[in-house]
Amino acid sequence: MPKQGMVKTEKEIAILREGGKRLAWILCALRDAIKPGITTGELDALAEKLMRDGGDEPAFLNYTPEGVPVPFPGSLCISVNDEIVHGIGGARVLKEGDIVGIDTGIKHKGLYTDSALTVPVGNIDENAKKLISATEGALTAGIAVARAGNTVGDIGYAIEKHVKEHGFVVVEELGGHGVGYKQHEDPHISNYGDKGKGLKLKAGMVLALEPIVNEGTRYIKLMPDHYTYVTRDHKRSAHFEHTILVTEGEAEVLTKRLSQ
Ligand code: MG
Ligand code: MG
Repeated sequence: MPKQGMVKTEKEIAILREGGKRLAWILCALRDAIKPGITTGELDALAEKLMRDGGDEPAFLNYTPEGVPVPFPGSLCISVNDEIVHGIGGARVLKEGDIVGIDTGIKHKGLYTDSALTVPVGNIDENAKKLISATEGALTAGIAVARAGNTVGDIGYAIEKHVKEHGFVVVEELGGHGVGYKQHEDPHISNYGDKGKGLKLKAGMVLALEPIVNEGTRYIKLMPDHYTYVTRDHKRSAHFEHTILVTEGEAEVLTKRLSQ
């Protein structure tokens, strides 16, 4: 299996398609388990169990990004309310009105897929609903322009435009990426950009698009655990992500969830 270049082979794509389906199913199960009273640690344990039961490896467990002194201790990133991404599961009890970002990845037959969504806990307020729907809409808008011949800048432009139109802001320090042989591959895909700028997309590229959207300020802060990012103003943040396959036409969403 070649480990270089951004365009995947048919054989690799078949494995990523299979992995994407498994990951989507796991995220649906996690979403359905989110209720007032469950802890973030219980969700993390459930994620790991579902992955291992399926014969796959949790991609995030013990992953150490460059420059970070400690490995990530969980199988799931769980980010509640003002936590933006990379939150760590633990004793925190979810309560009615929270919004919870769940982001995870698996290594299936040697290849990685990555996906996330933000889930309401019971009833949530109107602005939280708008934030979640604008973020999911931004992902759809990004996917719609992710086709061969367009550029990485076209994706960022479409995502930010959708977010701004709904009165929210994108986080500029974090974004999407290539995925497959590794959890994070080139290119980096900002959630803002200029039409026509940046790397040109080719059929066969596999990308993780992931708008990360704040309710208030776009500015972020890293917590002392080395992983959890929070909003500086402690307003809320939402996150949706899919692994997609670029084609000559509409992108194929490899991590598409079959149940809503
Ligand atoms: Mg992710
Ligand atoms: Mg990702």
